[in-house]
Amino acid sequence: MQLVPSPITATVDFAAPGVQHGYLRLPYSRDDAAWGSIMTPIAVVNNGDGPTALLTGANHGDEYEGPIALFDLSSTIRAEDVSGRIIIVPAMNYPAFGAGTRTSPIDRGNLNRSFPGRPDGSVTQKIADYFQRVLLPMSDIVLDFHSGGKTLDFLPYCAAHILPDKRQEAQSFDLVRAFGAPWSVRMLEIDAVGMYDTAAEEMGKIFVTTELGGGGTATAHTAGIAKRGLKNLLIAAGLLKGDVDAQPTQWLDMPDADCFTFAEDGGLIEFLADLGDHVVQDQPVARIFPVARTGLLPVTVTAGRAGVMMARHFPGIVKPGDCVAVIGVEVEG
Ligand SMILES: [Zn+2]
Repeated sequence: MQLVPSPITATVDFAAPGVQHGYLRLPYSRDDAAWGSIMTPIAVVNNGDGPTALLTGANHGDEYEGPIALFDLSSTIRAEDVSGRIIIVPAMNYPAFGAGTRTSPIDRGNLNRSFPGRPDGSVTQKIADYFQRVLLPMSDIVLDFHSGGKTLDFLPYCAAHILPDKRQEAQSFDLVRAFGAPWSVRMLEIDAVGMYDTAAEEMGKIFVTTELGGGGTATAHTAGIAKRGLKNLLIAAGLLKGDVDAQPTQWLDMPDADCFTFAEDGGLIEFLADLGDHVVQDQPVARIFPVARTGLLPVTVTAGRAGVMMARHFPGIVKPGDCVAVIGVEVEG
């Protein structure tokens, strides 16, 4: 299949030395701007030989630790401290970031389910296509920040995936260790098709991701983890001068789909365990009250396995099919 060129143009020169700040400009014709564009901020830092790191936040627009750490890095980084190239896109799905929503307000596109994208598709598909065909191929190391957004909350962790290529997997987990979040996860996905993670890994890139909190905000604690971890990862990869600020971390494994607990009922959720709590298999972790009338008993939701509660539903009202809790298994690093 012959693909048309991406409609996105970069106002930065990826080969030029020094620090550049610019945009990925995507034409977007609409009612309030007939010849308007989406202007996604991008910074490129180039200095001498070394690998290329591609750093992204707000792949989902309501997750904030990544954008905080990346806008911060972009405003302070000096070319002389870099060996190689660092590409910073603090808000990958910029329309979603601007709206404070997980998906794009333009086409409802979930960027992290839109890969490989299409140059002639929707706005979100065009963004995915640009990363797929332009930015990922020029990169060696990819760090994509996530958090729980408005509907999930996570123990702060850095993660990589179990991969068929064990060398690629080991290099990814080395950078997870260097990141030094309080928790480090060998991550299992429930819905990997169309993910940026999968696109990067299939190209053989070293891919590291995070889940650093949630609820549609960032705390001083989680933003601090993001900023320190970002620098640690770049230093460990040989891209940034300095010493890794080594931090203790607890590793978690996600052996199979029993880690995930889903609601079969809707209503008012009362958690019986909190993030970081140890639970045994079949332990009640939440109750869901029907709210149409009084006098009805709640439905109990139980853990599918023993372990640590590493994620939970965030809003007070839950719907059938929502992920209520995720249980990880503590393992040696
Ligand atoms: Zn996300």
